[in-house]
Amino acid sequence: MSLLLVIFAAVFGAATAGFLPRPAHRLAVRFGAPPRSACAACSRPFPAGLAGWVRAGAACPCTRGFLLTTSTGAATAAVLAVRLGPSPRLPVLLLAAVPALLLALIDLRCRRLPDRLVAALAVTAGLPLAALAPEKAGTALLAGGAVLAAYGILAGLSPDGLGLGDVKLAAVLGLILGFAGWPAVLAGVLTPHLINGPIAVFLLVTRRADGKRPLPFGPALLAGALLGLTTA
Ligand SMILES: [Zn+2]
Repeated sequence: MSLLLVIFAAVFGAATAGFLPRPAHRLAVRFGAPPRSACAACSRPFPAGLAGWVRAGAACPCTRGFLLTTSTGAATAAVLAVRLGPSPRLPVLLLAAVPALLLALIDLRCRRLPDRLVAALAVTAGLPLAALAPEKAGTALLAGGAVLAAYGILAGLSPDGLGLGDVKLAAVLGLILGFAGWPAVLAGVLTPHLINGPIAVFLLVTRRADGKRPLPFGPALLAGALLGLTTA
């Protein structure tokens, strides 16, 4: 592990995450609704076309919170670089972290995980990982299928807690973790529950949540996958 590699990864993570608040703001809408054409806070319209999607920093001059996004992007990329070192898997996972962080931001805002973004994560990570290690593709597919079945059953048992979006994201993460082996898959599917459980209790105890609206589970799933990839 070289310091230069970690710094490079962290700068890449921060720079890419710096462009996520605007698309997260626009895509955090209810199911079936078109992307926002104006800021939800100050109603300032976004430019038409691509220009309306590209903005470094906050989603709108009136909003904040992009520092947390960029530092999360930097920290995620740095952790991956520390753990993986100069491996060909590193650039693949650094790129996959971009749609992953966007999914977390959207889920936090509106409790949705858009299918197209989940599919983009599956393709940007799954295809290159399969090309790098075709011998592990079988395990990865099996892991994705196993996680799909397990989370599908969980969602059936508690439809209020887990949504179909969570099940699909979990399956994609199971596939990605499958390339790192079964211990990574296990860590990746178990830790989200350890992450969200205490947060839910804290929010209930401090009366910041009423227990009726469940927490978004996507960010916990993604954090669990990062933990699985970097610890197991
Ligand atoms: Zn605004």
